[in-house]
Formats: sequence, C-alpha cells, structure tokens
Amino acid sequence: MQDIFVYGVALGPGDPELITLKALKTLQLVDKIYAPGSVSRDGELKSHARGIIGQLDIDLSKVEVFHISMRFDRTETEALYQQVYESIKIDIRNGKKVAFVSEGDVSFYSTFGYLIPRLNNDSIHYKMIPGVPAFIQAGSTLGIPLTSQSNSLKVLAAVKEFDEVDDAITTSGTVVIMKFSTIKDRLIPYLQEKYSNITVRYVEKLGTEEEFITSDIEEINKRKKTYFSILIIQK
Ligand code: SAH
Repeated sequence: MQDIFVYGVALGPGDPELITLKALKTLQLVDKIYAPGSVSRDGELKSHARGIIGQLDIDLSKVEVFHISMRFDRTETEALYQQVYESIKIDIRNGKKVAFVSEGDVSFYSTFGYLIPRLNNDSIHYKMIPGVPAFIQAGSTLGIPLTSQSNSLKVLAAVKEFDEVDDAITTSGTVVIMKFSTIKDRLIPYLQEKYSNITVRYVEKLGTEEEFITSDIEEINKRKKTYFSILIIQK
C-alpha cells in the first residue's frame, strides 16, 4: 500500500476535547499543518483552527495559517488554494507529511474540498479523518434531539431565496442553516412574520469561550453578525 503524505483532518467545532483521537495522533505525526484563517473587514488576521490546535499537545511551530478574505471573489479564492496546494506539493517532494485542517468535520462545507480535485489530478493519495460537525454539537449544547423517529433534517447554507427555507420547513422537522450570518438580517423578520408554529434556536462560536446560545428571537435580531453561527428551526 502506498504511503500517505496528505491528511485532511477534522478539528471539531472548537472545544479541544471534541477532536478525535485519530485526528490528534495524525496532527502529532505530521511535519506540517496547514490551517485556514480569515481577514476581517478591518484587516485583522484570525484563525479559529489555529486556536483549537493551540489548546492541544501539538507543536505550534508546524502550523502555517493561510488567510482567506471575505472580500475574495472565486478567482482570488481559487488562486489562494492553488498557492497552498503548490506549497503542499513542495513539502511532499521533500518527504514531509502534511495535514490540512478544518474546523468541524472535514467533508462538510470544508475548504479541504478545494484540494481534492488537485490531489486526484496529480494522483496524490490522501486520507480524511472525520470529526464532529458544528451543527451536531449544537444538538448536545442545546440539550435537544436534533431529529428523531421518522422526522427528517435538512441542512441549508448561505441561503439566498426564502423559497428554499419555506420548502425545507414544509418537508422537514428540523432545518439547519449554516453560514447563517449571510442572511440573518432578512431571514429573522421573514420567519417572524410568516410562521407562528416554529421554534428557532441560535448558536454562536460553539465550544469556545465566546459561545452564545439563545432561542429568543428578539435577542437573535439584536445580535451582531458573526461567521461562526447557525440557526436551527424546528416545527
Ligand atoms: N466543517 C464545518 C462547517 C464549515 S462551514 C462543520 O463541520 O461544522 C462554516 C459554517 O459552519 C459557519 O458559517 C457556521 O455556520 C458553522 N460553524 C462552524 N463552526 C462553528 C462553531 N464553532 N459554532 C457555530 N457555528 C459554527
């Protein structure tokens, strides 16, 4: 069997104890760790992923953060991933093992997805280590079943049209809205006006010191937008 040099590793939502043993062992084994970060509107560099790694028994000098700006268009984002990929290829040529980490799970809206076609194209074998997705943690943090019996659950992300939400509410017992900040301002008033038979729950920065949860719709309305937030709607 061919030796693996590239790992896509899930970190879990934020609580360092919610990483899997397998993910932790992999991060300890590799020579280099690529972690996503962001550039805020005022130019501040942040990395939630690096913050999680920093709380684990992992040598932080192995970590290289690449920053994605919310202002990037598709071409700029692709260019950044190409750059990261080129750097990974150099590492592999030098005999290094690398991990590319994702908060939450690595197959669920993860930026590792950008690398997969490139790795496949160059026939570079990789292994993915799964983890706890943020919305799954939300059920436990809220102390509710996310779904049960014969009910279904639908996940939406960065919703643009309300039809999509209406449709999901009609067909599913539970609707999870990822990347909720992109639609927060318009969606909450819409739901308030249209539905009287739903419960909404909002979770923010799960597993971190800034974790915040509420099911008070006025409080959600007042809350400042943040990227790490999810809305859960139940009938
Ligand atoms: N791979 C991640 C999802 C990445 S997409 C996972 O498995 O959960 C980014 C979106 O995930 C954010 O916009 C937010 O909706 C959600 N998210 C990720 N981490 C979160 C956290 N700690 N708390 C709340 N929402 C989170």
